[in-house]
Amino acid sequence: MERRAFLSFFSVGTAAALSGKFFYRGGAADKILDFEDMNTSSLEISDSIKVMKSRAPSAPEFLEAFTSVGAVKESETEVFLADTDSPSLNSYVKKMRNYESPHERDVYLPKNKHSVLFSTYNRIGRVQTLIGHGNFNVLGFDEMLKIGRRYSSVGTFTRAETDFFEGLFSANATEYGFLGDKVTEKLTETIQKSHTKKISKTGHFLFRGRSERLYKKLKDDIGASITLTSGIRSVVKQTHLFIAKTIQSEGNLSKASRSLAPPGHSYHGIGDFDVGKVGYGNKNFTEAFSSTDEFKKLVDLGYVSIRYPRNNMLGVRYEPWHVKVV
Ligand SMILES: [Zn+2]
Repeated sequence: MERRAFLSFFSVGTAAALSGKFFYRGGAADKILDFEDMNTSSLEISDSIKVMKSRAPSAPEFLEAFTSVGAVKESETEVFLADTDSPSLNSYVKKMRNYESPHERDVYLPKNKHSVLFSTYNRIGRVQTLIGHGNFNVLGFDEMLKIGRRYSSVGTFTRAETDFFEGLFSANATEYGFLGDKVTEKLTETIQKSHTKKISKTGHFLFRGRSERLYKKLKDDIGASITLTSGIRSVVKQTHLFIAKTIQSEGNLSKASRSLAPPGHSYHGIGDFDVGKVGYGNKNFTEAFSSTDEFKKLVDLGYVSIRYPRNNMLGVRYEPWHVKVV
């Protein structure tokens, strides 16, 4: 399917779009969502994106603001940023701190796509049930289709569902406000088993080589209280999470993309991984993780980088748990 056709799916955040709420509440209720990461016009949207991009990182006030922000309290930061006389930067930062709220220029999936959103979500969910959570993390697109054809408990993916899947993958995520790179070019890319290592007791995989070595080293240095909470995610896995997030966000694709990379844009597909404190549950995917001893130790190691630091300019909330590898 052409990207242009998919982009016509979008509608812009208005009171009318929000009136679709009841649909999501009713429709989502029959399925428990698997949240690993729990937790205006299109012209105006692209204009606002241009403004954000032009502000980073060459603008002197950006560099000045963001190198000083680190340890400053949030309330002080607000004042400081307000003093920069940069309204677009200010509103961007506020939006990222309030990533869970809908914002004026958010992009929505139109109502006529709600039904295929749910049927795709449910069918992928049945694949996951069939093959198990661990294997599902590394499942490829073609393999997924084959499973649908072969097992009646899943059922063949319909044309509308595969078009929707492809549309999500080929969409230009900057339209949502997500500004990170596309790191997986092809929808049908597969993850070779021989390149992966299953990490015991976690249900997750890591790529052999850099990812595996870094994880082992930080575990040796920090101890048994830190664990892998999400490793390799194939395009299928990321798409399933993104659809879940879109359902949870009542069709707001922009809101979904502020806390979950759209399909093809996740560094989990090429080496990054998430860590958390053992026994901390879903709080590992909230800012509360940054107050744990495990996080403090992680920072003190000096060799671990965080992919989405506070005040990043990628359109993504602060994710202290997400370790950058590549
Ligand atoms: Zn992550």
